[in-house]
Amino acid sequence: MKILVINCGSSSLKYKLFDMNNDSVLAEGKVERIGEKDGIITHQTVGKEKVSQIKPMPEHSAAISECLRLLTDAQVGAIQDLSEIKGIGHRVLHGGEYFKQSTLVDDTALHQMEELRELGPLHMPANILGIRSCRTLMPGTPQAAVFDTAFHSTMPKHAFLYAIPYELYQRYRIRRYGFHGTSHNYIALRVAQLMKADPKDLKIISCHLGNGASLAAIDGGKSVDTSMGFTPLEGLMMGTRSGDIDPSALEYVMEKEQVPMANIINMLNKHSGLYGIADAGDMRDIVKGVEEQKPMHMLAYDMYEYRIRKYIGAYIAAMNGVDAIAFTAGIGENTPSLRAKICDNLSYFGVAINHEINQQRGEFELSTPESKIKVYVVPTDEEIMIARDTLKLISENNNKQEKR
Ligand code: ADP
Repeated sequence: MKILVINCGSSSLKYKLFDMNNDSVLAEGKVERIGEKDGIITHQTVGKEKVSQIKPMPEHSAAISECLRLLTDAQVGAIQDLSEIKGIGHRVLHGGEYFKQSTLVDDTALHQMEELRELGPLHMPANILGIRSCRTLMPGTPQAAVFDTAFHSTMPKHAFLYAIPYELYQRYRIRRYGFHGTSHNYIALRVAQLMKADPKDLKIISCHLGNGASLAAIDGGKSVDTSMGFTPLEGLMMGTRSGDIDPSALEYVMEKEQVPMANIINMLNKHSGLYGIADAGDMRDIVKGVEEQKPMHMLAYDMYEYRIRKYIGAYIAAMNGVDAIAFTAGIGENTPSLRAKICDNLSYFGVAINHEINQQRGEFELSTPESKIKVYVVPTDEEIMIARDTLKLISENNNKQEKR
């Protein structure tokens, strides 16, 4: 059974076609610069030549049409006919309180996603457009939505509420939602496999460190706390996002600089984090700057590491223990010096790593046999999780219909 996974961003789109008989990737690609006249499409079917084209991409449905055309192309395609695709799984940023798990998309689900648009103004419009375009282009094919927030829906109320007047939660659902849930879920399942244990018996801290970054405390396979909040702005210091900040400082800056709130939020999202301190939002540049002993790069690096370590400490307390810490995503997977600094500063908890092994790439354990807490690097795979959920929902739906 073949499942297509689509991840629509505001001006880009990534896709992966899976053969679910063995969880293998058949083809993948991406479209960049959607909305501009010179869109860039790259596509590769496994075992075939990689193709790259420049074409006008006025909107998301044109980009999806192009992906579908490439997937069925006689030379570079992976399938003969679109009917081979039995389902499409979409990554959707925000499930709000409506979606506590993945869902098959029908008119009601789409309507609810529309209502959640304001909670994710950067991502939700593109996510919804992607689903609508696929419904038009492949009307008979089931579509599933897999939400970045859903895995965190198990957080207890004392963890997800902000200490503000309760009416604001009742009236507007102001609360911590958390993001990167699909990735944190994958990490928790994979760590349990690596430890040959049942996820139900483990306490895990998952560190997803990409351009956006969040930690999750996962107890018994369920998210019990996470560092991102109402939006993906809260928590850790990120590439260009500030993470935690005292809101009073914002009012102060608004008055001093005479700028509206929208500008402040934009500054917190796009001009803060590593970029705000060192003028470089990419961890590769920060690491290079640290090696060259550039003071602001060293400061940004120290701030970044310190915030992660504080959250790890907090989550050990939140779960009253931890069995494993796992690093993932662009920075978590590729920055051994950062992992070493974090782990060496957790020696009080009994964390000990092998510094040589820590230099490796891919999936591995870096803790020593004596370490009280296991430490892993696990490359994340959100797409396979989306494909699996899509397949599961379609099978359940088919079973239901057969019983009728
Ligand atoms: P996104 O959140 O956009 O999916 P990624 O998971 O791709 O982000 O992570 C992007 C971050 O990973 C960037 O800061 C980038 O510098 C970092 N990164 C990627 N490759 C490396 C590498 N080889 N060494 C250090 N950092 C890396």
